[in-house]
Amino acid sequence: MTDVPASHPRYESLRIRDAIVAGVEKGVTSIHGLIAHGRGEAFDYLLGERTRHFAREAIDAAAAMLVTAGRPVVSVNGNAAALVPGELGALAATLGAPIEVNVFHASKVRERAIRGHMLAHGAPNVLLPTGHAVLDHIDSNRRFVHPDGIGAADVVFVPLEDGDRCQALVRSGRRVITIDLNPMSRTSRTATVTIVDNVVRTMSVLPERVAGYRHDTGAARALLERYDNARWLRAAEAVIRAGRGAFEEPALVRGG
Ligand code: ATP
Repeated sequence: MTDVPASHPRYESLRIRDAIVAGVEKGVTSIHGLIAHGRGEAFDYLLGERTRHFAREAIDAAAAMLVTAGRPVVSVNGNAAALVPGELGALAATLGAPIEVNVFHASKVRERAIRGHMLAHGAPNVLLPTGHAVLDHIDSNRRFVHPDGIGAADVVFVPLEDGDRCQALVRSGRRVITIDLNPMSRTSRTATVTIVDNVVRTMSVLPERVAGYRHDTGAARALLERYDNARWLRAAEAVIRAGRGAFEEPALVRGG
């Protein structure tokens, strides 16, 4: 990052912004992805740019769901690929799960660019949607999936999804784990597990939770029995509505 010292109060936010811009320059991220990122930044600001207790609860549930899934898939769009390619590749490798590319704005060129970018960051197996398998309950080009990826999946981990497709995935009987800084989006309200957090922060916490539950699937199943996604969405919305997130001192939000 040019001319911004690590001590700058907005260093991390600016670093993430640079990663998205680099994604656009590489042809991995759509220009529209910049707008989606800006919306995310605004919510992150209101949440105080930290991983709060409701996100930690959801990250735990996500880890539990991933290790107990029969056929998990990691679904990646241009923003996720720009921000956390190595982390998503490593997660897929740990789970033995394929990665599947999904783009909101149809582009075969960009799908291939995302695939190349993920492979270059160590992802073992990256699938592209084909014309051979489709999701019901959705009409756009986003209904196409890969038959061995989302087509066969029982759990889809999709950081950054749009509401229609999330709804279609859930209606088709799949469980969906998403990461979305807006607890009020249709995606957040539809997903089975919603992590209200920045995808960059979540991906630095999730691997250790996955490692923990892999050795204790009994505990993972027990946690999923009692997990209540709506409760943590309400908690996230309450922080935003209280309007204090951006101004709280870290000491005041211990554990939350
Ligand atoms: P929906 O269709 O679910 O109602 P939307 O149309 O409001 O969503 P989109 O434009 O599809 O939103 O996608 C932007 C979403 O992604 C926003 O909710 C934003 O908060 C979220 N987002 C953007 N960047 C990040 C990020 N780095 N980490 C987590 N969430 C993010």
